[in-house]
Amino acid sequence: MKILLSLLFIISALFSAEVKELTWKRGESFLTFLNAHNISQDLYFNLSKSDQELCSELTAGIKYQILYDDNENILQVLIPISEEMQIHISKNNNNINKTNNTYKVDFVPIQFTEITQSISIPIKWSPYQDILDNTSNKLLANEFIRAFKRSVDFRKMRVGDNIAIKFTQRIRNGRYFGNPIIHAAMVEVRKRKHYIYMNDNDGRYYDEKARSLTSFFMKVPLRYRRISDPFTYKRWHPIKKRYRAHLGIDYAAPTGRKIFASADGKIIHRGRKGGYGKTIMIRHKGNYRTLYAHMSRYRSGLKVGSWVKQGRHIGYVGSTGMSTGPHLHFGLYKNGRAVNPNKIITITKEKLSGKAKKKFLVSIKKLSKELLDTIDNNDNTPLNIQDFKNKSELKLVS
Ligand SMILES: [Zn+2]
Repeated sequence: MKILLSLLFIISALFSAEVKELTWKRGESFLTFLNAHNISQDLYFNLSKSDQELCSELTAGIKYQILYDDNENILQVLIPISEEMQIHISKNNNNINKTNNTYKVDFVPIQFTEITQSISIPIKWSPYQDILDNTSNKLLANEFIRAFKRSVDFRKMRVGDNIAIKFTQRIRNGRYFGNPIIHAAMVEVRKRKHYIYMNDNDGRYYDEKARSLTSFFMKVPLRYRRISDPFTYKRWHPIKKRYRAHLGIDYAAPTGRKIFASADGKIIHRGRKGGYGKTIMIRHKGNYRTLYAHMSRYRSGLKVGSWVKQGRHIGYVGSTGMSTGPHLHFGLYKNGRAVNPNKIITITKEKLSGKAKKKFLVSIKKLSKELLDTIDNNDNTPLNIQDFKNKSELKLVS
């Protein structure tokens, strides 16, 4: 057997191996990482174009793990690139020459636990603060505020008003991981109840009358011919027998076609970015970032720190970096994690209608009752996320 899945404590016991958790540093790239650890750059250059593109997804601040043997040699590395996938570097022990330190790379799914919980919280300070105090989950508090932004004025709330939330959160190694999904939530403002519900079909929030509550401020950044590669977190490739991900949308368009800023924001990157070639990144309100890759050139006069308005011309379509033909790779990130741009930028109707509305109204009946029940039952037992420590994902190559 080539690969033996084993638990961390077994590895530790047998080989006195050690796992270190590190944080990806600002300015660090896949290549500088390989260099710093004396791993051949061929590891990167032998990858396919789409895999090289994925290696450009590494962002400062992500936590990754290295497994060392007792001589401090790297056995394995796991670096998350999205909420679903991670880069796995492992020592290649198949060589006859055992002294040869070669490694291989593959992309593997991230292991996590998903919990769905309904909680009620009586207001003491503010919804944000009280969610934080009760769950220690900052992303959940932020998402809650965002969901109600268009329908509720929190300043009118009083001590003793209630909120109730049904949400799903991923937990990985005893920590919250990735953006939470709020299925339904209720806010009492002086005893009057306001609801929001997630519509599973489009991933957006609606009120109890199926009116849209999500504000969309992003626009498609160019006039394109077609989408040549859609966004995908994790898709099983039956022929190559592996997972592949594409963390943005590829818009096919001729070289030189103008690219526009998708929303107001500040330029935080202008330059080459690994497999993405000439790239501009813009930071927007609400912890969003957009990425425009494979440009042939930038619009002159733009630099890091420049403020741009929505629709401002920022560069031209090209094929720089790892690209098979002229196109724009457009990425959207929320809290540093890639999300499907289509969820944000597609022009949407303000209301659901017809079959979609009927289906939605049926589904929210049960959710509303669930929320009210959590308040009646005073369900606010805080979760001990330390109980959700995953078994180590690091495999042992034998
Ligand atoms: Zn792409």
